[in-house]
Amino acid sequence: MKKIGYVATECYPFIKVGGLADVIGSLFKIFYKNAYLFLPLYKQIKENFKIEKIGEIEVFFSDTRKEICKIYKLSNFSNVILIGNDYYFDRDEIYGPSGKDYLDNLERFSFFSKSILEVCKHLNIKIEVFHCNDWHTALLPLYLKLYYKDFFQNTKVVFTIHNIAYQGVFPSDKFIYLGLPWDYFSMDELEFYGNINLMKAGIIYSDIITTVSKRFAEEIMTEEFGFKLDGLLRKYKDKIKGIINGIDYQVWNPLFDKYIKKRYKTSEGKIANKIFLQKELSLKVGEDIPLFGMVNRLVEQKGIDLIIEKFENLIEKEIEIVILGQGEEKYKEKLLEFKTKFPQKFSFIYDFNEKLAHQIYAGSDFFLMPSRFEPCGLGQMIAMKYGSVPVVRKVGGLYDTVVDYNENGYGFTFLKDEEFIGTIDRAISIYKNKKLFKEIVKKCMQLDFSWKKSAEEYKEIYESL
Ligand code: ADP
Repeated sequence: MKKIGYVATECYPFIKVGGLADVIGSLFKIFYKNAYLFLPLYKQIKENFKIEKIGEIEVFFSDTRKEICKIYKLSNFSNVILIGNDYYFDRDEIYGPSGKDYLDNLERFSFFSKSILEVCKHLNIKIEVFHCNDWHTALLPLYLKLYYKDFFQNTKVVFTIHNIAYQGVFPSDKFIYLGLPWDYFSMDELEFYGNINLMKAGIIYSDIITTVSKRFAEEIMTEEFGFKLDGLLRKYKDKIKGIINGIDYQVWNPLFDKYIKKRYKTSEGKIANKIFLQKELSLKVGEDIPLFGMVNRLVEQKGIDLIIEKFENLIEKEIEIVILGQGEEKYKEKLLEFKTKFPQKFSFIYDFNEKLAHQIYAGSDFFLMPSRFEPCGLGQMIAMKYGSVPVVRKVGGLYDTVVDYNENGYGFTFLKDEEFIGTIDRAISIYKNKKLFKEIVKKCMQLDFSWKKSAEEYKEIYESL
């Protein structure tokens, strides 16, 4: 198999903010023997893992921008290369505070992308396929083509769009930091309505673009979901492919989950976890109260505004809701307010908490994902493994993975905001029929969203390039 270089800003278990980390962690694990992983050396990695310095080089952008790149590797994983520069990466956050970006993210991630190529050259690592992910790494194929063709003569690039909403858009006066000829600031290149758009580099200069579900691959080429890049993507439609993400069942499995109260194989095993969760969160304890869980970033994409808008309607029902998430301040304030108002029926934890996330998947009866758009979504697939029945909006990866109960399926789906409460009612009424609900839970738990098939598809791409 070819030598792959995974290039990403997150990878579980080293550093995680969202689903990207899970995906890269899984792929790297599967192709470990033939792969390198390149990550920024964040403060959090320094604090939690043993690392070794293996070199130091200068990375040239222009006469006015040269940066020092300290090269490290993880002590126990010699193929995890860490790109170090304390000024850029020794910070409290990965991308920026409270869901916002650091103002110098263009400098930070152009440094990351270019340094990787320079480091490979320095260490003589001949990557055959770089697999870049999201806008932070989108400059790599362009730098490769412009400045590193001699070293990487036959190297190809796969660019995966995990989220089209984040494109790396910066004011045009930052262009000088990129170390690119001015020709590249044009409509056919990186210019985007007067600004710079880094994701464009990934779209134009990679050999294949993948995105994380078949449905999303189609959606991003439409005006509704393309976030103004739909035209460009349609131009490159022949190199776009949708591959659904998988779940790592060694990490997400109620049979050997180290975080949950009681491990389980069938729906009965969930009861102890539900009671535990209710107690832990000071909710009213009751086996028969349908419990809706949500574990997600608190951003508009995830439909959190819909939950807030319909909250009074929701909470008047005989249900309980728990939300674990971090993100925008406005959502946080509102949810805290609801928590104070309905302490026995609603719990909200503003945190990033791996352990509690597992406990919510295990202890909830339903899992809420009313996302406005959803490239793939891991939450619903994890939830199903834990027998938490998904209630989702039929978009992107949620469309591909959740089939409505009314269509012989195992979940509850809706499209428009007006249908949300009706869908919740439908879920509650089925829940009351214990036998039926048990069958649905069983169906969910038996589904296979492992990486087996998708990893095979990636492998085919790597080999075909
Ligand atoms: P996205 O990548 O858009 O954030 P996904 O559904 O693809 O959404 O993946 C989210 C991943 O992050 C899941 O593994 C989920 O459990 C985890 N996650 C999200 N928010 C939190 C949180 N506050 N605490 C713990 N885990 C979280």
